[in-house]
Amino acid sequence: MNNMRGKMLSGKRYNTLNDELFRKFGEKVSKIAIDGGFTCPNRDGTISSYGCLFCNEKGSGDFSSALYDIDKEINNQIKINQRKWNTNKFIAYFQAFTNTYADVETLKKKYEICITRENVVGLAVATRPDSFTEEIYDYLEELNDRTFLWVELGLQTVNEDTSKLINRGYNLDVYEECISELKKRNIKVVTHLIFGLPYEDKTDMLNSVKFVANTNTWGIKFHSLYIQTDSRLYDYYIANQFKLLTKEEYVDIVALAISYLPKEMVIHRLTGDANKKLLFKPEWCSDKLSVISSIDKRLKELDLYQGFNYNNNME
Ligand code: SF4
Repeated sequence: MNNMRGKMLSGKRYNTLNDELFRKFGEKVSKIAIDGGFTCPNRDGTISSYGCLFCNEKGSGDFSSALYDIDKEINNQIKINQRKWNTNKFIAYFQAFTNTYADVETLKKKYEICITRENVVGLAVATRPDSFTEEIYDYLEELNDRTFLWVELGLQTVNEDTSKLINRGYNLDVYEECISELKKRNIKVVTHLIFGLPYEDKTDMLNSVKFVANTNTWGIKFHSLYIQTDSRLYDYYIANQFKLLTKEEYVDIVALAISYLPKEMVIHRLTGDANKKLLFKPEWCSDKLSVISSIDKRLKELDLYQGFNYNNNME
């Protein structure tokens, strides 16, 4: 245990993004959320016109700005982050909707504005595994040599029945093909998982974790399922009243999930970030800091840490 903790700048029992970026850049680096004005094939009618069950009209990017003037957005976001975090290095984060869903020339214009800015040391691109072309992969490979790049993929679950229920719009083999293309090019991948999806039990959630752990990709994000009044999930819940996770259940699952990850994997997030004004249920999701500190406490109680159960992943 002590060996593991000794490596963590934050003193946490897991490898946080903050620690990882501090090690890489020698100082705190913060993310600035950029809205590139993209849409999503799962919302514009190409795959479907209603999106993933939990998605809202902002395309799962509630905290990004919608100005579409990227230069202006960068300036605003840098000012906000400098005040909030007193940082001078930034990762431009294209968060809302599907940020590779355009031709490569359009992507170049949007991404290059960011990475050529002084103090922007990296680029994070959130997208879907079905929204790449060979040209896009090749451009990302080239970009990967010039900046600190990572690509985020919303997998959410490996259970194919759940993926249909939530209308994810692609099968697991599409995700596997995509991460293989990205890994071939040494591009870092961050996978998003959601705990508490309708009718999933602890085994389903841990199966998703073990699957991601075994892909040996760079990072992972855990989200708690929460219901906002502006999502289709709200109507689904009202009609079906499926079981929602309690805070204690969520904390227990995340603590266990952390133990199944390889110790080098970078944990970008431990819980979702619900918009308090729109949150319907569960209410505990509105207090992110309390959820994180409960996870830290639970890890300590169980004397678990990242990597502890990694060798049991194939069970
Ligand atoms: S892929 Fe993302 S933006 Fe598209 S519908 Fe799903 S959650 Fe929304």
